[in-house]
Amino acid sequence: MSRPRTYKTECIVLKQLSLSEADRILTLYTPDMGKVRAVARGVRRPKSKLSGHLELLNQASVSLSYGRNLDTINEAQSIRSFRGIREDLQRISKAIYMAELVDGFSIENSDNYQLYLLLVDSLGWLERTDNTKLLLRYFELHLLEHSGYRPELVNCVECRAWLEPGDHFFAGGSGGVLCPECRVDSEDSLIPISLNSMKVLRFLQREKGFANIDVLSVPPDQLAVLERLIRVYIRYLVERDLKSAEFMNLISNARS
Ligand SMILES: [Zn+2]
Repeated sequence: MSRPRTYKTECIVLKQLSLSEADRILTLYTPDMGKVRAVARGVRRPKSKLSGHLELLNQASVSLSYGRNLDTINEAQSIRSFRGIREDLQRISKAIYMAELVDGFSIENSDNYQLYLLLVDSLGWLERTDNTKLLLRYFELHLLEHSGYRPELVNCVECRAWLEPGDHFFAGGSGGVLCPECRVDSEDSLIPISLNSMKVLRFLQREKGFANIDVLSVPPDQLAVLERLIRVYIRYLVERDLKSAEFMNLISNARS
């Protein structure tokens, strides 16, 4: 049996790139094929049947044809446009950051259903929560987990000993917290992590949805510490494994 020439899926539009006056190349994140790059012909014309359905960050159902290099989008129907995000510049910038993280941590045609669900769910929360900084930390931690980079925060990442309650150090190169003994021998660059920060991060990591986190109130200075810590770890991973210059700039310049 020959391979079908077309397929249907749903997606979130992660990125748009103008190809010509009328066409765009879109980076889509799908539940069953992961990241897909596809051409949307005529999408920039106001009368196109695609336009309006494939805006950046839209969730849409799409029908595509396989192509030699890029697939082509034939039809699109908007499912959810996350209007609550679009009306607020702060929320837009956070949503774009989420989309760029997914783009940077995923490879084409490699499915990651959990990551798709996380993105859709987090965009939904971003429309309505005022706890947006904590939402971003929750999103980052679970994106790391679904990408195979779950930070170890309960046992020492080197010797697996249970971490006594107290202030510790996070080793980006090892991807977790070190016990006092392992810390002495570590050649990693170490980031101090307080007991309080560790407690919040463990909670964010343990929760499988944002509802119980949304009601938490974390002081701004502690939020800043958490943001810096995760950002340093992500930057380390980007430099070691992901290496996209564009993505590296994003992580270096991100303010959230
Ligand atoms: Zn240890």
